[in-house]
Amino acid sequence: MAVGIHRPTVLTIDLEAIRYNVKTAKDHLQNGAELFMVVKANGYGHGLVQTAMAAKEAGATGFCVAILDEAIELRQSGFTDPILVLGITSPEYAHLMVEQKIAAAVGSLDWLQQAERNLEGIPGQLLVHLAVDTGMGRIGFRETDDLMGAVDFLSKSQSLTFEGIFTHFATADMKDNRYFQGQLSKWQAMTAELPELPKYVHISNSATTLWHHPLPGINMIRYGAAGYGLNPSGTELQPPFDLHPAMSLTSEIVFSKQIHAGDSVGYGATYTAKQDEFVGTLPIGYADGYQRRLGGFYVLVDGQKCDILGRVCMDQIMIRLPKFYQPGTKVTLVGRNGSKEISLQDLADHLETNHYEIACGFSDRITKKYV
Ligand code: PLP
Repeated sequence: MAVGIHRPTVLTIDLEAIRYNVKTAKDHLQNGAELFMVVKANGYGHGLVQTAMAAKEAGATGFCVAILDEAIELRQSGFTDPILVLGITSPEYAHLMVEQKIAAAVGSLDWLQQAERNLEGIPGQLLVHLAVDTGMGRIGFRETDDLMGAVDFLSKSQSLTFEGIFTHFATADMKDNRYFQGQLSKWQAMTAELPELPKYVHISNSATTLWHHPLPGINMIRYGAAGYGLNPSGTELQPPFDLHPAMSLTSEIVFSKQIHAGDSVGYGATYTAKQDEFVGTLPIGYADGYQRRLGGFYVLVDGQKCDILGRVCMDQIMIRLPKFYQPGTKVTLVGRNGSKEISLQDLADHLETNHYEIACGFSDRITKKYV
């Protein structure tokens, strides 16, 4: 993928904000629990290696990723810290996980048996975190007997080490906490039967950390969204401490002109000026993850809201300017400009989605600048 280093569209990532967010979370935890930064999906679009490094500098002692390749990239970048792959990895790669000391999330006895067979004759141990499905309905053991069967298998295994046990909450970011409490009760009931606990016991994502801690018996959290300064509930709940957003998106006007009443702008000629007005063109479009449905949204120029006119093109958008601005004028698509600010949440509201999707949806064609 060619990265646009010769155009002025830039995702700026504030690593100090990430360090601040991680430090604040660690202070909030009080009980000395470890914080594993969730850096899957290219660090939620902020950059895998750079965000992992910032989080580590601020006290993160491990990382969670979604797929094995992300873990391998961290290893290749020199990280020796614990790494857990949260998704299911095929047991055919068990040897690779052993070799690279990467922990696997496991939700079935069958997986453990296959991995054990694949590891015959291979030195080293595969680190296993058992996933418990208490209500997320995604991966994990749903019945206590099955969980106990896996724990028993691990206790006898020559090549698998029981390193962790975890669950994931579906509604920790919601005001109504009844479903959360149901999951928590199921977790407590299922794990009460365990003969002994593994090194890591972890059930908290950002929302659980912000709104449900302290929780007994937990010694690690998996911290994602809030580490990047994103409120995991959107706007439903207010965090108990400040979150500093780390991502901003800026560009420049590259072409500026006046159009007249009756002139149209963009594909489909969906916008027609009712009067004379100034129009600026920006070098960003839906190929950059600035989605087509953002037609009708706005950007900030010189501290003022400027509407996007017509349809978002693949590589360019047109905006209405309050007066003539020279090419080279800064434009903010996410972040602060003068007294105004556009947050990822504002884009998410317009697109009827969450800010997670917006942040990790910006394409690698946009160059990143780390400050
Ligand atoms: N744990 C698991 C299993 C996840 O899938 C995720 C993210 O989706 C996280 C933790 C981190 O969640 P958050 O970004 O809300 O902190």
